[in-house]
Amino acid sequence: MIKEISGVEIELVKGDIANQPDITAIVNAANARLQAGGGVAGAIHRAAGPGLEEECRKYAPIEPGQAVITGGHNLPNRYVIHTLGPVYGVDKPEEKLLADCYRNSFRLAEENDVESIAFPAISTGYFRYPLEQATAVAMRTVLEMIPELKKVKKIRFVLFSDSDLVVYEAELARLTSG
Ligand code: ADP
Repeated sequence: MIKEISGVEIELVKGDIANQPDITAIVNAANARLQAGGGVAGAIHRAAGPGLEEECRKYAPIEPGQAVITGGHNLPNRYVIHTLGPVYGVDKPEEKLLADCYRNSFRLAEENDVESIAFPAISTGYFRYPLEQATAVAMRTVLEMIPELKKVKKIRFVLFSDSDLVVYEAELARLTSG
């Protein structure tokens, strides 16, 4: 599904966040230490190679809601933006912290002239944020940010399963209808 809002394209796809070669910056659902681990971070670090962990070392640790930007190393993307989502039920207030992940990622994207950015569903894996709730926060925050974006022209959400994609599609349709 693709929607254009105020000149910015929002695209929802099923896929692997570490395999988005046409995107300038991919967002990593990072851990506080900015190391490889599992899930999104594992996939990104595997594809990027050890240089990424090396570059990340000087920024770690980060707090929930924060974001930092590095090079893409062996990835096809110029940048990786690493953000730490809230652990559901632990880091509070979780809605604000999750929204901060998206806001701070966009801030770094704008500062670095990023034209296209791809997000995974931050916090919805190991951090157990219920997907429907996380989707609502992600979508709402993105729609709020769009009027402020000057550089970013394309926002892609990369979902890992068909069922996650359906939830995102329903939310985008709901928020942009009428
Ligand atoms: P967090 O620790 O922030 O919860 P995870 O990496 O555990 O982050 O998962 C975040 C979401 O990304 C989950 O919905 C998970 O299914 C999904 N996911 C896992 N691997 C990938 C990948 N390679 N590409 C895109 N999404 C992925």
